[in-house]
Amino acid sequence: MRKVITLADAMLFDFLISMETQLIWYGHAAFKIKTAADKILLIDPWVTNPAFARGKDELTSLDRVDLIFLTHGHSDHVGNAVEIGKRTGALLVSNFDLSAAMISVLGYPEAHTSNATTGHLGGELSLLDGEVTVRFVPAWHGSSIQKDGKSPPVYAGNPTGLIIALRGGPTIYHTGDTDLFSDMALVKRFHKIDIMLVCIGDHYTMGPDRAAEAVKLVAPRTVIPMHYGTFPVLTGTPEAFERELKKRKVKARLGVMKPGETLAP
Ligand SMILES: [Zn+2]
Repeated sequence: MRKVITLADAMLFDFLISMETQLIWYGHAAFKIKTAADKILLIDPWVTNPAFARGKDELTSLDRVDLIFLTHGHSDHVGNAVEIGKRTGALLVSNFDLSAAMISVLGYPEAHTSNATTGHLGGELSLLDGEVTVRFVPAWHGSSIQKDGKSPPVYAGNPTGLIIALRGGPTIYHTGDTDLFSDMALVKRFHKIDIMLVCIGDHYTMGPDRAAEAVKLVAPRTVIPMHYGTFPVLTGTPEAFERELKKRKVKARLGVMKPGETLAP
């Protein structure tokens, strides 16, 4: 007899598959993703940021990393990428200009970058034999790289947001650092976003009200606020963000994480 797959079966199946994906917030804009096939991905890996007390230990214990994604070149996003890349051989995934500046200014190992992992706005790359795809989308911000605090900034291209789709797992949109812009509505037209990682801190990016408006445009299943509370000037709070989401009747589930916490979406 042919087994009929019910909606409940399908939902349970979805749930079991996505259970295997883990998303860990390191604080600020830094995330670690463990895929269903046990690949390790990092986004904007400032692991030793001041909001993450276990940052130094975590950095030492990162011995296996497959891909490092960067949204732009500022030091609070590049973070510990070079050290991790040198130690683990992780491939750098970023736009062309940022990749070039990472190599020439900060010494990211050139052997761990390639055309296959370097793209640009609008492009979609298939990575790790199709296990992961990434699309580079716009972000309204700046992007430059400095060797250290006293060195002049070097051009690092346009900043980006990243839409990372995992085979057998969720599609994740990391906004990067950005203001609200109306073209965020285009994300929804091309991708069904399961998890949106959205900056809410204000001062250098949009704050809670404009971030809530961005979530409304993208319509994700779950939204996780980031890029707040790391420094005193980043004044946006999850509480204010929640109020702004409610005001706009946004349906997305709000997932507020603590630095070091794991979400199995
Ligand atoms: Zn930033």
